[in-house]
Amino acid sequence: MEETASKKEILGLTLDELSSHLEKMGQKSFRAKQIYSWLHVKRADSFEKMTNLSEALRKKLDESFYISTLKEIRRQRAKDGTTKLLFELDDKNTIEAVLMYHDYGTSLCVSTQVGCRMGCKFCASTVGGKVRDLSAGEMLSEVYTVSRLLSVNINKIVLMGIGEPLDNYQNVMRFLELLNSKDGFNMSLRHVSLSTCGIVPNIYKLADEKLQITLSVSLHAPTNETRDRIMPVNRLYRIEELMAACKYYFNATGRRISYEYALIMGVNDNLENAGLLAELLKGQLCHVNLIPVNPVEGTGFLKTDKKGIEQFRSYLEKRGFAATVRREMGSEIDAACGQLRQKDKKGVRPNVVER
Ligand code: SAH
Repeated sequence: MEETASKKEILGLTLDELSSHLEKMGQKSFRAKQIYSWLHVKRADSFEKMTNLSEALRKKLDESFYISTLKEIRRQRAKDGTTKLLFELDDKNTIEAVLMYHDYGTSLCVSTQVGCRMGCKFCASTVGGKVRDLSAGEMLSEVYTVSRLLSVNINKIVLMGIGEPLDNYQNVMRFLELLNSKDGFNMSLRHVSLSTCGIVPNIYKLADEKLQITLSVSLHAPTNETRDRIMPVNRLYRIEELMAACKYYFNATGRRISYEYALIMGVNDNLENAGLLAELLKGQLCHVNLIPVNPVEGTGFLKTDKKGIEQFRSYLEKRGFAATVRREMGSEIDAACGQLRQKDKKGVRPNVVER
């Protein structure tokens, strides 16, 4: 939530920032570490629970700060365990988070905005446009709340929920810093993936941060012509510009890019497209993740059949690419971004980003 004039959101503060606030309140510096640990290690959701602080200090904290909270509105669990939660934020807006179970552990798909303004034609998150950005504290609250509600450790985080992470750059960077903090959640950024529809200037910026995260790029088409039809962002940043930014990212970080490609029947899924994709990515050390498109009500897009998907994948493999088909997790519970939120409130037309 936006900070009110009187209270500051505390989960989104770094330890240094918290220390300086407490110093101004006349508190000893070691208190900052104690409070930070209550928030990010013990995950207290109220000051009252911070029992090694005096009652007077707890009261003072409560007067100066608030902790972002998420209220569970709905929960859906699929046969494979995938659990989708619809949360209400402090200002009554809603977002989704999805927990998935894998051989290696769990991963949590985190939302970065309320709605999205990128306008991808196959995506439910974009219906109704963007309402607002999420703060770093709210994103952390997604992680802590899911972990608490489902009693799980979260081993991996994917920024692939509602919203475009690179359209909320500062808050997402702060979220990553807090997630990675040694005195806090202490998650290695190697266990974090960030997915973008291709906001080119911010891919360069991100490359220069030299983080250990995996960058996923939602490519979904091998030519400007096809990409223009399904992703309005492509009219701002052409495929050639996007590829140049991706190459820069790889050179700067040494991290392989994962290209996401949703197979949509009759739109981008024939072998000619596979050939063009192979030409486009030629020479790049990368990974291609094929996703059978999740049909969203009202879009008219259908998924490619199993045979078509396998042909596309094996073609790429023959051309020397690491190509996998994403396991469809929890599709019976609308696990693709934004679908549960839309069921709760019928949306209007998306607004689309302009350069
Ligand atoms: N805005 C970011 C992250 C959110 S979406 C991005 O565009 O990458 C996460 C992934 O799901 C993206 O690759 C997105 O294109 C894809 N996606 C969205 N709707 C989908 C659908 N109906 N079926 C399959 N993939 C979808």
